[in-house]
Formats: sequence, structure tokens, C-alpha cells
Amino acid sequence: MRGMPLPISLLRWLRSRLLMGLLALLLPSVECASVQAASAAPPLSVTQVKPGVFVHIGALEDWAPSNGGDVANIGFVVGSRCVAVIDTGGTPAVGQALRDTIERTTSLPVCYVINTHAHPDHMLGNVAFSAGAPPPQFVASARFSATLAARESYYLNALQREFGMHLTRAQVIYPSIAVEHSLDLDLGDRILTLQAWPTAHTDNDLTVYDRRTRTLFASDLLFVQHLPALDGSLRGWVCAIAELKRLDVATVVPGHGPVSLDWPIVMDAQDEYLNGLLRDTRAAIQQHLTIQQAVDRIGIPSGSHWLLTERFQRRNVTAAYAELEWEDDDPKSPVGSSACPQQNFGTGSTS
Ligand SMILES: [Zn+2]
Repeated sequence: MRGMPLPISLLRWLRSRLLMGLLALLLPSVECASVQAASAAPPLSVTQVKPGVFVHIGALEDWAPSNGGDVANIGFVVGSRCVAVIDTGGTPAVGQALRDTIERTTSLPVCYVINTHAHPDHMLGNVAFSAGAPPPQFVASARFSATLAARESYYLNALQREFGMHLTRAQVIYPSIAVEHSLDLDLGDRILTLQAWPTAHTDNDLTVYDRRTRTLFASDLLFVQHLPALDGSLRGWVCAIAELKRLDVATVVPGHGPVSLDWPIVMDAQDEYLNGLLRDTRAAIQQHLTIQQAVDRIGIPSGSHWLLTERFQRRNVTAAYAELEWEDDDPKSPVGSSACPQQNFGTGSTS
């Protein structure tokens, strides 16, 4: 990963903390919740990976109080007119810390907050951006809202139970712009192309591509070092990877793991893992193994170096089995780009 860490002005940070502490005493509502939560969080470190493209790398751990919920890669892109935020982190405090960092970096307003999918580690910081003047527009896949609505109670309970943070339903911020296929956002002399994907890592994955620097925020369509976590469609994800590999990318920001310039080779480990999971699960089903037997037998290939395997491997096999158990296709047919529906990435059409 290249680039310069941002200089942090301790004095300005302390002053902003003091101001926010006073605000917390005065304001009882949304601002108060995010400000209180923020007081526990240190400033968020970001790296400028390309001119105007800033990334914060989350811990390679599960979403937990021990890391403050700061486990997803999040970032922002600065145009000549305004700023786009790409994911807001796993708690309101992480979101507030990101907002603080943006305000120290540029005086331009945040005009868009983009959510790459409705997993809590990527979007529970949204509330920190909801009180801008004017507030930004929130953008996500057209399928994001339904998925978030189905899980909202669980997320809020987990936040309360595990992090001791209270968030009301009104503070779970939903998108005002829904992307059905693709959408270009103009930040001023800088176009971001957003692409909503068929079900892959989740049913509402969205990638963000900065045309000026050919930087792709792949989000959780790409895991590096962290074992991929399946919550959508294994076959769909394999297809999405085949499609992604065709893109003209200079720098890729995965959802978890370090930024890479090694495109598309950086996709290979995940590609191998997911294709192996597909092959092994199909074989288990053909051998009439039960789901429990499949979960017990299908392990991580020896020689691979994935982290968090204890947390995610059994879950992945369970999800893969449930998906593949009733598939109509000839199980021996290869899954490659030829078997995948065609995407039209980067056409720039608005929908
Ligand atoms: Zn995710």
C-alpha cells in the first residue's frame, strides 16, 4: 500500500472533542447519541492511497467491542465540489471518528454517503453523517433497504447488548438513492461509478469505482487475508469475481484486508477458496452427506493462510449446502464466466 499517512493535529482534535462534549450536554437527540458514542473513539487513521482517495483499514477481526466494531475498510473520495463517503464503520462512534477525520482533511461538504451492503460493520456509522447541513444523500443498492429492514432489530440489539450503545430505529439511516444497476456520481471533476451486483457476498452488494485513479472499492466482494464470509450466493459470488477481474483497476480496496495494487492477482486466493467450497459442497451433496457431515468434513485447504476460519468456515459450508442442495444444473458443469449472466459494468447509465 502506497501513500502518506495524514498529519493529525492534536490541538484541533482536542478542540473538536471539547466542542462536541458541550454539544452533547445541550442536544438530546440524534447528534447527542453519535457524539456520546464518539467520545470513546480515538481519531480514525486514514491513508491517501491515490490523490484524493482516503482509506481506513479495519482490524482483521470479528465485529466486537474489543475492537470498537472497527473491522471494515471504509473511506472517502474528494472531488472539487464535495466528498463521497464509502461505508461508515461498525458503530456510530466509528462513523463520527471518520467524519472528524474528513473535516480535518477538507473543508468541502460530504454530499454522498455510499453503503456497499447492509452488514453492520459497514453501515452502523451512518447516523454520524445524518446531521450535516445540508445532510448528504445516502446511496445503496436497490435491495439494501429490504435486507436492512429485516435485520435492523438484530443489529440494534447487538449494538446495545455487546457494545453498550443505544441507537433508535430512527437513527438507522436508510438510502435516499437506490441503485438498480449502475449510477455515476459527480463530485466535481471526479466521477464515481457505482455498480449494484446480483446476489454474491450478500443480496445487495455495491462497488464504487473512481474513474480518475482507477481505484475500485470492491467492499466485501473481495476479502484479503480474512476468510470470505458467505451471506448471499456462492454461485453468484464466483460469477461476480469473474466479472470483476475484467475491470481496468490500478488499486483495489477490499472490504477486509490490505489495499492492493496487484490486480487481478489479488483476487486469486478468494477465487480458489470459493471454487473449492463450491466443488467440495457439491461433492458432499452427491455423496448424500447430511449438512452436519458436510460441515464437519469440509475444511480449509491445507497451505492456505486465511484468518478467522474458526468463525466463518462452518457457517460458509452451511450456507453453501443450503444453496446447492436443490440446484437444477448439472453439478459437473463448470461455473465460470460463460455460465454467468452478463453485467454491463461502467456504462455510466443512471437508474
Ligand atoms: Zn459484509
